[in-house]
Amino acid sequence: QMKKDDMRYFLHPTSSIFDMESWGGPKIIEEGNGIRVKSVEGEIYIDCGAGLWLNNVGYGRTELAEVAKKQMEKLFYFQTFNGYSHPLAIEMAKKVAEMIPMDNPRIFFTSGGSESNDTAFKLARMYWYLQGKPNKNHIIARTKAYHGVSYGALSATSLPGFWDGFRPLVPAFQHIEHPHCYFCPWGKEQGSCNLECAEALEEKILELGQDNVAAFTAEPVIGTGGAIVPPKGYYQRIREICDKYDVLFIADEVITGFGRTGKMFGMLHWGVKPDIMMMAKGITSGYIPMGAVGISERVFTLIRNHGIFMHGYTYSAHPVACAVALKNIEIIERENLVANAHEKGKLLRSLIRDLDLPCIGEVRGLGLMNAVQLVQDTETRTMFNSALGIAKRVSAIAWENGLALRPLIDDGLQLSPPLIITEADIIELVDKLGRSIEQAQREFLG
Ligand code: PLP
Repeated sequence: QMKKDDMRYFLHPTSSIFDMESWGGPKIIEEGNGIRVKSVEGEIYIDCGAGLWLNNVGYGRTELAEVAKKQMEKLFYFQTFNGYSHPLAIEMAKKVAEMIPMDNPRIFFTSGGSESNDTAFKLARMYWYLQGKPNKNHIIARTKAYHGVSYGALSATSLPGFWDGFRPLVPAFQHIEHPHCYFCPWGKEQGSCNLECAEALEEKILELGQDNVAAFTAEPVIGTGGAIVPPKGYYQRIREICDKYDVLFIADEVITGFGRTGKMFGMLHWGVKPDIMMMAKGITSGYIPMGAVGISERVFTLIRNHGIFMHGYTYSAHPVACAVALKNIEIIERENLVANAHEKGKLLRSLIRDLDLPCIGEVRGLGLMNAVQLVQDTETRTMFNSALGIAKRVSAIAWENGLALRPLIDDGLQLSPPLIITEADIIELVDKLGRSIEQAQREFLG
């Protein structure tokens, strides 16, 4: 009956209604503990995706529930518009400002990643507008980017299907090819190339004219597009190009922030400081919706001098979200979850590589932000016919084997469990994953 009611009343976000109908309804999860979730049928699954890349501290943290309850009772809400503030907003802004790899930043709060992206793009355009350069308004993003689905964020996103039916998008968004050495669009090998993927930014800025380009935006590690890590030197070169042409560099740390990649923030892997940074997801481990934007002194100073900022959300700096976020960050720090993500990520990738299965092409990632790339032929890196849907099939078999495993676009499998995962859990996960891939492989390759 629950499945019937779901199909009758609930329009699911970003999902195939066809698929769900063919399965006879959704998989319904009602409980979680640690890295595992339990369905209404009582079956237990390892959550290979940490929800949607957000659950850093694991399920069932009573500490987070307690601070939320306490804050709801004390002051569940008051606005931070129009000269008001509250102690937890101030404490949270200070905490985030001191954590992120930016000099003397200001923090703006949102309810999630799309709002953080829209805020960042508006800030970038306003920055140039306030300097008398209203035409410096193009935002350059990359193919395979996912920045969210509100109109600004959607216009930066570039994944198949997301624009269909929703045009016209916000004007003046452009895309360059994303970096991915395994499928290098320039046909180069890592280590013997000239970082053509980074040079593509310079080419695009020259094509548009530097006086027309406000900002370049990138996920430090591409998430939904496939956990794709750029080559060494990529972001250093990107920063140089941005500086050369006076273009802001915006880092979308919605997934990579708060420990997922084995450093507290993704950009710390490259020692590059962005001008604007987006956060969400891991900021509260998803226990309550929240996002944030880090704004560099360079950008903030202009807005400060202008004296007015006409942008804000009702739930910006929601007190309950601030309380949960502060406790969540305390847990991440106290339990050394960033170091655990680094260590367990290495183990996960090495055990998957050891499976040595003929359709596992690339095992890639940083920390606990990983993907397995399935290919028909590892020698030639030829993909399966996409209509066959091998990653979807693996994920269906994995479900039978006790894994909640999400297929990513282009036959990737998402492996980003909560950062609390232990060695024993990783061994169990890889065993189940291996059996699932082997079965699908027999069906597809014979
Ligand atoms: N940016 C990145 C990198 C994301 O992965 C996501 C969501 O997956 C978003 C932005 C959008 O976040 P939200 O779904 O909270 O709006």
